[in-house]
This record gives sequence, C-alpha cells and structure tokens, in this order.
Amino acid sequence: MMKYCKKCKHLYDDEQQVCTSCKKSLCAITDKNTPVCLISASGFELERITAALDDSMIPCSSILQKNMASAKVFTGSDTSTYDILVPYSAYEKAYDICVGIGAIKLGGEKIVNGTDSADEYMDSDADAEQFEAMSNTKRTTVRVVSAILLIIVFALVIYGTDFIMEFIKNLF
Ligand SMILES: [Zn+2]
Repeated sequence: MMKYCKKCKHLYDDEQQVCTSCKKSLCAITDKNTPVCLISASGFELERITAALDDSMIPCSSILQKNMASAKVFTGSDTSTYDILVPYSAYEKAYDICVGIGAIKLGGEKIVNGTDSADEYMDSDADAEQFEAMSNTKRTTVRVVSAILLIIVFALVIYGTDFIMEFIKNLF
C-alpha cells in the first residue's frame, strides 16, 4: 500500500514516514479516488502529458506549484511548473502512459542516481578501507625493513671500526 502527502499529494512507499519536501507525516491511501501527484511539468511537456492522459480517458488536473506562483507575473508567459494530479486508482496506468511518451524515464532517473551514488559511496568506502589496510601492511613492512637496516648499519659501524682499528694497529 502506498502512502501520500496530504499537502503536496506526492506518493511514497510504505516505509516512508514523512514527505521529503513538506516534512509532513504521510497518510495511507484509503480512497481510490484520492488525487495523487503523477509528475511535475511545465509548458509543452505539461500539455503533452495532459493530452496523453486525456486520450486514455484518465481524469487529471494540474495545480500550480506554490513556489512557482509568481513566475507568470514576471515572464508574461506561463512557464510555471504544475503538479499533475490523477486519481490514485488511475495512477499506475497514468504512470505507464508517462513512461510510454518518455515523460518519465523508467526506474526514475532521480532514484537510480540516488542508489547509484549510494553504491558508489559504499564502494569507495570499502576501497578506502582496503587501501588503509594495505597501507597499514605496507607501513609495518617499512618499519621492519628500516629496523633491520638500522641493525645492519650499527653492525657495520661496530665491526667496521674494529676492522679499521685492527688495520691501523697492524700498520705500526
Ligand atoms: Zn508533501
């Protein structure tokens, strides 16, 4: 069962508790005729989608997004973004139509990007861990090698000095 935000009509999965844009707690959809937001669009895209929905006899209405309300006043032309609402019962069909006309990319670009970057993030995290583990091993190796080298240098100095002293003694 899907949930929706009473304020902006956006649909959410059951696990979601609050609307990501309004921060309102979500309501379960009990009435099949509840208008839900299908997609946001403006200009030609808006006309294209509503025409396609009309062709399929899906009742729809578009509401102006609140934050865009003043765009018409300033530009003179209607470039405002509208939320297209359809009854919940027709949502799936309307969604398919939007996919069919290319208004919605399958998988939802936003969602795909979100999971992708999350995966990448996890991957790079794992890589970083691996890298750290590797560099730790490397560091230990370097420490051991330099300790051995230090012992060799000490040995050379001690034996070398002995050798030179012996050599000098033999001269006289
Ligand atoms: Zn909302």
